[in-house]
Amino acid sequence: TVGAVVLVSGRLAASASTGGLALKHPGRVGDSPVPGAGFYVERRVGGCSATGVGETILLGRPCVYAVELLAEGVPVEEAARAAVARHTRLFGPDNLGIILLDARGNAAAAMNTQGMPIALAGREKPEVEPLILWRSGGGA
Ligand code: ASP
Repeated sequence: TVGAVVLVSGRLAASASTGGLALKHPGRVGDSPVPGAGFYVERRVGGCSATGVGETILLGRPCVYAVELLAEGVPVEEAARAAVARHTRLFGPDNLGIILLDARGNAAAAMNTQGMPIALAGREKPEVEPLILWRSGGGA
């Protein structure tokens, strides 16, 4: 997946793009093109983009869950972590990574696999705790 979540002039947008999973059936539709599955935004609350096993993401809707937590006032890092923890409880490990951005520009990433930090950091072993890859300070 190539996913992005942006905040520009107070407006949020999220996206996801993918070639799908290896060995997929012809005609399979994964999570990435489905709003509320591969990506989700709630105006003035936050946005999220997901990668991983689309069949679990379509069922579990971790991006919707994470943004709901933001709407309830949960901080972005805690919301990302909780959404991935819930997904792992429902579907097991090694199937999800999300990026999450709130309406003030605070961002976090969380995942339930060692593979994503390795791929993203280009290192053999992640130097970070696997559930949270990075976080950033907010904007205005
Ligand atoms: N989520 C995608 C899919 O299941 C795979 C990916 O992460 O690129 O189609």
